[in-house]
Amino acid sequence: MTTFADFHRQSLADPQAFWAEQAKLIDWKTPPQQVCDWSNPPFAHWFKGGTTNLCHNAVDRHLKDRADQPALIYVSTETNEERTYTFRELHTEVQRAAAMLRGLGVNKGDRVLIYMPMIAEAAFAMLACARIGAIHSVVFGGFASVSLASRIEDASPKLIISADAGSRGGKVVEYKPLLDEAIRLSSHKPESVIMVNRGLAPMSMLAGRDHSWRGLSEKHQDAQVPCEWMDATDISYTIYTSGTTGRPKGVQRDTGGYAVALAASMKHIFCGNPGETYFSTSDIGWVVGHSYIIYGPLLAGMATIMYEGLPIRPDGGIWWSLVEKYKVTVMFSAPTAVRVLKKQDPALLKKYDLSSLRALFLAGEPLDEPTGRWIAEGLGVPIIDNYWQTESGWPILTIANGVEKKSSKFGSPGVPMYGYNVKILHESTGEELTEPGQKGVVVIEGPTPPGFMQTVWKDDARFVNTYWKSIPGKLVYSTFDWGIRDQDGYYYILGRTDDVINVAGHRLGTREIEESISSHPNVAEVAVVGVADQLKGQVAMAFVVARDASALTDDAARLKLEGAIFKLVDEQLGAVARPARVRFVTALPKTRSGKLLRRAIQAVCEGRDPGDLTTIEDPTALQQIRDLLA
Ligand code: AMP
Repeated sequence: MTTFADFHRQSLADPQAFWAEQAKLIDWKTPPQQVCDWSNPPFAHWFKGGTTNLCHNAVDRHLKDRADQPALIYVSTETNEERTYTFRELHTEVQRAAAMLRGLGVNKGDRVLIYMPMIAEAAFAMLACARIGAIHSVVFGGFASVSLASRIEDASPKLIISADAGSRGGKVVEYKPLLDEAIRLSSHKPESVIMVNRGLAPMSMLAGRDHSWRGLSEKHQDAQVPCEWMDATDISYTIYTSGTTGRPKGVQRDTGGYAVALAASMKHIFCGNPGETYFSTSDIGWVVGHSYIIYGPLLAGMATIMYEGLPIRPDGGIWWSLVEKYKVTVMFSAPTAVRVLKKQDPALLKKYDLSSLRALFLAGEPLDEPTGRWIAEGLGVPIIDNYWQTESGWPILTIANGVEKKSSKFGSPGVPMYGYNVKILHESTGEELTEPGQKGVVVIEGPTPPGFMQTVWKDDARFVNTYWKSIPGKLVYSTFDWGIRDQDGYYYILGRTDDVINVAGHRLGTREIEESISSHPNVAEVAVVGVADQLKGQVAMAFVVARDASALTDDAARLKLEGAIFKLVDEQLGAVARPARVRFVTALPKTRSGKLLRRAIQAVCEGRDPGDLTTIEDPTALQQIRDLLA
């Protein structure tokens, strides 16, 4: 029995041998000739010369042994639908979708933007893209027209797939008007749009551009579309994520490396077996949805549950009832969801037979100890915190019980995973901090492992400059997270080093929110900061200097403007980005050179000492914020 420490050491000492072994977990049309090409850092090219296909590995490969076993279990508590697709049925649906795409002229390398709620067609669409080698770019359904427009602009999709509406807590959210507005705002126009009609909202269809999913699907009932064999280094998808600047980055992922990374993680980290059921409560719009609702479980021959709805509707037992019904063995969620469930009747946890469940994985934000303990006691299974990013595609820090059983420590996501050479560096000197408890920036030394982002879509320079040049004098990948390591090698993540905030596990750029708020005619200046929140981990707080403050003399007037700003953010970015509060001040705290003191504002909001304020231009600006909160 290897220890995890040995396994990890081997992965770094001889990555070629290590990953050649992992590569056997997937099917190749032609085997790779070179495991890792790191001749042009920081660009790592994995499995060069190999050809494979993600859809083949997720679907077709299983037809031999498990064609009639469940593959996709779609459950919506919004529309009260529940349907299981076997691998055979999934194969059929994916081929229909692939034929529709082909019929509308989509070829290998073309982009297809998917803006959809959590419905089975979204899974078919993603897998169909993978099948024909089109690059999918899934945009979270909770984003609104301006967010969507910037992604359409950047991805320049030939085709967009969407639906009439999503639904949240019984409330219909229409997608078509947001999509039409986004296309109007974007200088790039898609040739075609395919709309799924769920019968939730009326849709106006643009003749010549818009097509109905059902209509097209009927035309391709018996379609047979073979998998396009892709070079391992060909792009599988892009997914947008927020950073310090307002413009979201298209995280670009390869094909072969991603397939191997996910297959390896299913074996070593998630310990999922073919024929079992995996339930990830995330959304396909996030990286967890890509890796662990769609590709990871299916690659492993598992059934995957795709759930549309809230965790507490019809009641807080809904997820546990699905665990019982579908004999879920591996579950994946986020700390915020657990904190929501913790407020529900504790008896709901005991109401269902959860004996199939072996572990609950939690990621996306720090897991606080009380939440971790509560759910661990309630479920009686290991709670496995795991830390990663859109950029990495799979966990960076966690424990790998498939290699060696280890216990978690509450508050720590765990240790660096195989393939990851993680270090803690001093943020300005770049010096490595090796003593336990020393706080620095968590970085990864290259080559980054398979599955990791290849580059920023269409912008290699941005990839290098943003991620690899932030620590002076060192070519290392920065996670932009603060961290420390304890004496046992367990890491603790202490928040972002940049202007990214994490609301309920959703990563948001404060600059994007500021840009949106600034577009209100009565906003002269704005600062948005993330403030600690009991339920959501963090919430956004906005401080606004009004252009014309003369009308803001009473609470009613301030609430009215706050409401108008909420509406604006909802319409432009989506409700996920709406700040918890908008407060009005006459000046924002800045340095004498005009830099916003966001950290000082955040500290004051959290009741902490704002630290060194010697460079502040106008100390009363910070005092105003203090007074407002008091
Ligand atoms: P995203 O790219 O949306 O997955 O967000 C990634 C960021 O979420 C990381 O850089 C961290 O700041 C945070 N994060 C993700 N998982 C964890 C975790 N298990 N513990 C603490 N922070 C996390």
